[in-house]
Amino acid sequence: MIKTAISIWEACLQYIKDNISEKSYFTWFQPIKAVKLQDKILTIQVPSKFYYEYLEENYIKIIKSALTKNLGKDAKLVYSIMMEKNQQTDASFTVNIPSSQKAQIKLQEVEAPLFIERGSISPFAVPGLQKVKIDSQLNTNYTFENFIEGDSNRLARSAGKQIAKRPGGTSFNPLFIYSSVGLGKTHLAHAIGLEVKKIQSEKTVLYVSMEKFCQQFQEATKSNNRNDFMHFYQMIDVLIVDDIHFISGKKGTQEVFFHIFNHLHQNGKQIILTSDKSPVDIQDVEQRLISRFKWGLSTEIQIPDYTTRLAILQQKMEFDGIELSEEVLEYIAKNIKTNIRELEGSLNSIIAQATFNKKEITLELVEKTLSNLITNSKKDITIEYIQNLVCDYFKVSIDALQSKTRKRDIVQARQLAMYFAKKYTNASLSSIGFQIGKRDHATVLHACKTVDNLFETNKLFKSYVDELNKKLTS
Ligand code: ADP
Ligand code: MG
Repeated sequence: MIKTAISIWEACLQYIKDNISEKSYFTWFQPIKAVKLQDKILTIQVPSKFYYEYLEENYIKIIKSALTKNLGKDAKLVYSIMMEKNQQTDASFTVNIPSSQKAQIKLQEVEAPLFIERGSISPFAVPGLQKVKIDSQLNTNYTFENFIEGDSNRLARSAGKQIAKRPGGTSFNPLFIYSSVGLGKTHLAHAIGLEVKKIQSEKTVLYVSMEKFCQQFQEATKSNNRNDFMHFYQMIDVLIVDDIHFISGKKGTQEVFFHIFNHLHQNGKQIILTSDKSPVDIQDVEQRLISRFKWGLSTEIQIPDYTTRLAILQQKMEFDGIELSEEVLEYIAKNIKTNIRELEGSLNSIIAQATFNKKEITLELVEKTLSNLITNSKKDITIEYIQNLVCDYFKVSIDALQSKTRKRDIVQARQLAMYFAKKYTNASLSSIGFQIGKRDHATVLHACKTVDNLFETNKLFKSYVDELNKKLTS
């Protein structure tokens, strides 16, 4: 029988089909066409670069066996990649199978197709070169100049500054910034993007929230534009993804983000991520993504101290063109401690009060305006306080609570302490675990689930939780 590209590929497919799931076969192999066979070089046509990368990453072994079986040891495979608008790159990628597992890539400039989001992108032509202009979606109010530096954010801020000078060129890739709400993640993320644009205006910077990314991906999937979606993101120089934790539980989005991440990282592009949890504390995200989040620098923004809070208030005051007495500022900075958004909110409500009632901003007015906020905001509950209270309640010692003992009553007290620490403090799971007997985050998570379960099913246990809750919040 004469060996043609089609017959050889057919034979390979038979073999591959027997070795992978029907669904994968359908998705990844069905769309491939064999186009050429010359000597022992088989050229197959794949619908996009993404296909090529996906095949390389997941199926190269099986393709290799299939080819060796049907064409012999010195078989070679060439991918021909179909471009958008049915253009074709001629043998953009050559894969020499026998020599190594790793693809030997002869890359010709691949034209990036556009994923067009209404209103935000307009292609513009430069002779001989197709380029795309992308609206960075950056908020010009969130600059470095008005991002006050303090102990709480120093590391994140300075890493951001360095990245802005050399995006993709520092070891902070990705930069992973995490904190609880209102502490400046979004502000800092924009500031980095703006600074990059200021220094190197030709860089393509894009800010996107993970929520929006998910929506775009869903839409792209619906309209069969996944490849365009992916290619669009793969041509960004500095990609800023805000609130990445939103990806939790979303398998398809994780998959596509994984490929975008890899592509950008491999090509020396900068990735900046923000999250309300540290990488290890993010739930329901594939391990391979979590491990990538940790590749660069993960840094936490903490609650600002008094001096920083005061400096932030002073800056906002100047920005709004109002004047407040030292006394008033100090009062606000002393009493509003949880986060910066709340700090700004308090300042705004004081200004509103004064304007509506045509009153001067006195300490008395401020005390009155903020009294609600302050009495409602829980007193600072620390993990130490929780441990003491729980130990007191169950009459066990702190040492026992923090020991490795598996005695039932101690385990129960320990799990409750973890549960309340999660509920009443901003500490991460790892930090809670560390403080309560040097446990890991998984133990804390398990404790919280156990308490939730027992609370539902065990009356006596429920009464413990209720009583401790009362003590903690009174
Ligand atoms: P997050 O994204 O962490 O929830 P944001 O970045 O939205 O927090 O910040 C909340 C508000 O606090 C924003 O208005 C931001 O400008 C302000 N803010 C945060 N950090 C600082 C800072 N270091 N200096 C000045 N303003 C800040
Ligand atoms: Mg934010």
